[in-house]
Amino acid sequence: MDRCYHLFPCLSDPARRSSLGLKLALVTLHLIYVGILFLFDGDLIEKTKQEPWYTSLYLFLFFATLVQYFITSSSSPGYVIDAMRAFNEANSRMQKASMASKQPASSNNGSLVITMDGSQLGRNLLASNSMSWSKLVMDMYPQGTTARTWTCSYCNVEQPPRAKHCHDCDKCVLQFDHHCVWLGTCIGQGNHCRFWWYICEETALCLWTGILYISYLKANISRAWWKDAVMIVLLITLSISLIFLLLLLIFHSYLILTNQTTYELVRRRRIPYLRNIPERVYPFSKGVCTNLYSFCCAQGSIYKMESLPTAPEIEENALHVHFYKFIVSLYFWLSS
Ligand SMILES: [Zn+2]
Ligand SMILES: [Zn+2]
Repeated sequence: MDRCYHLFPCLSDPARRSSLGLKLALVTLHLIYVGILFLFDGDLIEKTKQEPWYTSLYLFLFFATLVQYFITSSSSPGYVIDAMRAFNEANSRMQKASMASKQPASSNNGSLVITMDGSQLGRNLLASNSMSWSKLVMDMYPQGTTARTWTCSYCNVEQPPRAKHCHDCDKCVLQFDHHCVWLGTCIGQGNHCRFWWYICEETALCLWTGILYISYLKANISRAWWKDAVMIVLLITLSISLIFLLLLLIFHSYLILTNQTTYELVRRRRIPYLRNIPERVYPFSKGVCTNLYSFCCAQGSIYKMESLPTAPEIEENALHVHFYKFIVSLYFWLSS
């Protein structure tokens, strides 16, 4: 066993061992579903010979899904400690540059790593070349909030809004969504987009495989009962997985469009900054299009932090909801 650990050092760590086991189980599961299909389905082999593009496309999706899985599971969710380190490094670089040139550092240096929503905060960082992480985090909370509210009691770092300590990773995660056991990592600001693409690809693969299974059963029923039995069992588990994946995809799409996280949605009543906000008001939402754009395209910075909205901003957000409700009720009234 020691020799094994020597050859594969990652196996000596129980957490990494179990994550490696999970990855192996996932790849095996995928290979079983697709392997049995190609093993049993003679028609599919025939079709591959006649129309190779069809099978090539299917196999491309298969490998793309697995690659996406590994990319997502190995990507950082955006740990607060890393953001803090990056911020401090950028800060010290700015200080050195300003000391060397005997004049205030170029504002571009500070915005290399961290960007923040909220123009005031942005200006604060760019204007000051000696801002501490604590001050940065403090400025993101409304005045009067105590430091205890934003200091993590486990790793003792100051958490920006929307960050949460993950007990599995033992680190604070920016824009914490959930800890995914299947991927063996947290889903947060850094990898939520990759996670969405993974679910999307997995759903498409599951659906396509299901269609291939059904067409096999339709064409080959009553040839060999045990083959049919295996295929039916696999199809049932595939259908259950597909339903789960579809629901997950819809749920995460809804979260993205409203700029929420799973944690914020589930624990809304327990999160101090959301507790007093009316239902159906999404405090971080900037409209569906902007939310979608910032989720998909505005990934220029590694760590993007959002300050808590002010009371007038929340009120304005609530007004939009009331206006939307009014339009919907007007539409129903006119159409009835
Ligand atoms: Zn923590
Ligand atoms: Zn975690």
